Amino acid sequence: MKKLNVGVLGATGMVGQRFIEGLEHHPYFKIACLAASDRSAGKPYREAAKWYLAGDIPKHVGDMKVELIGTGIIDEFDLDIVFSAIPSSVAKEVEGSFAEQVPVYSNTKTYRMESDVPLVVADVNPHHLDLVKVQKENRGWNGHIVTNPNCSTIGLVVPLKPILDEFGLEWVNVCTMQALSGAGYDGVPSMAAVDNVIPFIGGEEEKVELEPLKILGKMESGRVEDAGFQVFASCNRVASLDGHLKSMFIGTRDDFDIEDIVAVLQNYTSVPQELKLPTAPIPPIIVREEDDRPQPRLDRDAGRGMAVTVGRLRKKSEKKLKLTCLSHNTIRGAAGASILNAELALKEKLL
Ligand code: NAP
Repeated sequence: MKKLNVGVLGATGMVGQRFIEGLEHHPYFKIACLAASDRSAGKPYREAAKWYLAGDIPKHVGDMKVELIGTGIIDEFDLDIVFSAIPSSVAKEVEGSFAEQVPVYSNTKTYRMESDVPLVVADVNPHHLDLVKVQKENRGWNGHIVTNPNCSTIGLVVPLKPILDEFGLEWVNVCTMQALSGAGYDGVPSMAAVDNVIPFIGGEEEKVELEPLKILGKMESGRVEDAGFQVFASCNRVASLDGHLKSMFIGTRDDFDIEDIVAVLQNYTSVPQELKLPTAPIPPIIVREEDDRPQPRLDRDAGRGMAVTVGRLRKKSEKKLKLTCLSHNTIRGAAGASILNAELALKEKLL
């Protein structure tokens, strides 16, 4: 098949670099344009980006000139789709103007909670992509916007989905331990990060408390009815580089045996796995039995960074479950999630 031409907005940042990594040798997509702010525009990518990933920048990418973000690049590079990893402060206007012409797959919070914008984790709520039709009717855009959630939310909703389906959910309390890369390259100064835990991440708790309800909600008559359980979150920045760890305390509707919880997590598969999408993790959830797993350094790259690893499954008392889960924040929680959403959208003939 002819590969689609992709533009990456915010290509020089932490998430942008993960897009470059994930799109290298991709069977459906090829990078046609890298775009960023006026700080980077006009420079070769290797000069503009502080490359933080292991290994070298792919040579052809390093040689590409970084473009200034603006809709002119759509025609200039014959773009079929745009992946966005730009700051939320500029996303309203930028992503909206791109979506008038081409599909935009976004990591930014700006459009996530709008009622006609799909907030999709491909292996949790793939059918929410149906909102694209509603969005196009409402807005008259030739393109559309599909968002993926906050980097912590993704690791939360993947294990919650099979538990919700099988046992129901009443409430979820979560304490996050989030890696430094979640704040972007210049996010947390080393003097604040080293030898420290910062018990506050601006705006994060609100996102972690609200987004799961939309993602795990039901699509009915062209809208999403939020799921009916409560989430309470406490978010912390810790000094790991990549991988958000979460302690979760879960109240179920029905009682359970821990073996049954393990089984529903281990056996969970969804549409991306059935369709054998190129970046779909198989399995999407890995259950570790060791007392001291998952750990960011050991488990964040599971399933090429796309699997969610769950461990420390304990039954506290009737209908009360404790577990720890881990997901890679810039892959599963950001660029990888967007790419998987776009793979699904292509199969659904939305691209
Ligand atoms: P980052 O490392 O700070 O990168 C930001 C990118 O946006 C850079 O390419 C930067 O270009 C560009 N940019 C900055 N100001 C701009 C402006 N005024 N106009 C256009 N482009 C501008 O941030 P990040 O961590 O990659 O995050 C990017 C987005 O993804 C944010 O909305 C963030 O909330 C979201 N997100 C991040 C994570 C994560 O784990 N890091 C996870 C999920 C979602 P220059 O290099 O030219 O300045």
